[in-house]
This record gives sequence, C-alpha cells and structure tokens, in this order.
Amino acid sequence: SKREGFATIPNVSWSDIGALAAIRRDLQTAIVNPILHPTLYNQLGITAPTGILLWGPPGCGKTLLAKACAAESRANFISIKGPELLTKYLGDSEAAVRRVFARARSSVPCVIFFDELDALAPRRDSGSSGEGGGESSSSRIVNTLLTELDGLSDRSGIYVISATNRPDIIDPAMLRPGRLEIPLFVDLPDPSARSEILRTILRYKPVVADDVEAVVELGHGKECEGYSGADLEALVRQAGYHAIGRLASMLNMEDFRAAAARVRPSVGDIKRYYG
Ligand code: ATP
Repeated sequence: SKREGFATIPNVSWSDIGALAAIRRDLQTAIVNPILHPTLYNQLGITAPTGILLWGPPGCGKTLLAKACAAESRANFISIKGPELLTKYLGDSEAAVRRVFARARSSVPCVIFFDELDALAPRRDSGSSGEGGGESSSSRIVNTLLTELDGLSDRSGIYVISATNRPDIIDPAMLRPGRLEIPLFVDLPDPSARSEILRTILRYKPVVADDVEAVVELGHGKECEGYSGADLEALVRQAGYHAIGRLASMLNMEDFRAAAARVRPSVGDIKRYYG
C-alpha cells in the first residue's frame, strides 16, 4: 500500500543509492544496527539515538536514505509529509500526530519519516502565536511532537527520521538530545558523486555497452554541473525520450548529450540556501 501514513516496508536498499557513503554509514550505526541487533546495544550499554534530521537541498536523496534505512533493517516505514498532515487534518493536526506515533507503536520496529518537517515544526516564537489568547496551532503541534519524541525510550523500537531544506526555521527544541539529535547534511553531489549516482541509476537501464563509461564520465563534467540526484534521474529520462525519438531500444552517448543540453540544474546557487 502506498497510502500516506500507513506502515509499509519500502523496497529501496543501500545499493540503490549512489554516493553518500558517509551518511549511509552514519545511518547504519544510528538506526539499522540498533534495530537489527538490539541486544548487542544493550550489552554494550550504548543508547541508540531517537531521531535524525536529514537536511540539504531538494532532490539529493533524503527520502531515498530514509526508505533504505527502514528496508535495510526490515522495519516498517510510516511516511508523513508535513504540509499534508496540516491540510488533511485541518484543526486536528495534534491528534493526527498522536495517531502517527500510536500507529508506529503498533508496528514496531518502525521508522517514522517526517518529510518537510519545517512545515510541521516551525520556530514557536515566529509570528503567529496567541490566536485568541491561547497557543497557536503550530506551537501546539510542536509541543505534541516534543511530547511524543520524549516518550520514545531507548527500547521502544521506534526511530524518527525527518527531512528539511530549511533547518534554520525548525523549532530548536526539536533538535535537542533525545529528540532529532543527529543532524546529517545531504549535500548536492560533487563531480565524482554525480558519476557514482549516474552509475547507480544506469544499473538496470539498457545502455549500449561501449558507451557506459562515457556516460558515467559525462556526469563528472561541466555538462552536469550543479545537477542534483533528481536532475540526474531527469537526465536519464530525457535520454530515454531522445532514444524513443530515434526509435532505438538502447540508450547511447548521443541520447545523453542531447539530454544534458535540456536538463537545467534545479537547485541553483546552494549558497542562497545555506549562506
Ligand atoms: P526533497 O527535498 O525534494 O524531498 P530528497 O532529498 O528527499 O528531495 P529524493 O526524493 O530522495 O530527494 O530524491 C529524488 C529522486 O532523485 C530519487 O527518487 C532518485 O531517483 C534520485 N536520487 C537522488 N539522490 C540519489 C542518489 N544519491 N542515488 C540515486 N538516485 C538519487
């Protein structure tokens, strides 16, 4: 089932993710190993973190990483998009947050993924507080999230991964120890990372054998400067359209060159985001 907010086990493994090796290692230690080997953690007296914050520009693999964590640990996965929770449960978002955690408790081990966390947990001091003299709805949601996070003990079997492009506007209390305590920056890929990602995406694509290395090399070059993982995915899709245009059933270098001329980097200047 792909229904929002229900538990599933995703079919994404570490091998479906190109580059990002250091982050994959950190997530293996923080989430996958504690789920797979809880007694070892107990015996060694090591406390697993409650939650992680993946932050960085769009399209660089945050969702993919969260899914792979759940799949690699054979845990259930509950995916929540911040803005959807707000609009779907208008006026009753706190109850919706509590239901998410209740559902997770009934399907342990479980990874809860809060995408676009900034929409759900913005700084409580920012603007719209005190409607009708009471707490604003956004600060009630933050308080509910904090209560639920604080209720997750080391052995609860529930892990929270959150993602945002805007860590600067998240309520800082969310990021304290025992909550989303480990921030991991998921950067725009550098030239070698782009090549690795391309190689990963191309694994199951029909590329003319003699052209594979040249295509991977293209990822390294100026043509793909500033591309995110999502842009590399778009590159391969565009190459596919180009191949269809010439009624070919295999992708070749010409298809990828034409595609690279069409795909523009979607992120733009990363310094605009993070200074
Ligand atoms: P957003 O902030 O927009 O939610 P995100 O960081 O969560 O973006 P993903 O949804 O994980 O990005 O990535 C978008 C798509 O780009 C993926 O479905 C995948 O096809 C491709 N992609 C991104 N990064 C990688 C990667 N490291 N390896 C392979 N594919 C990738």
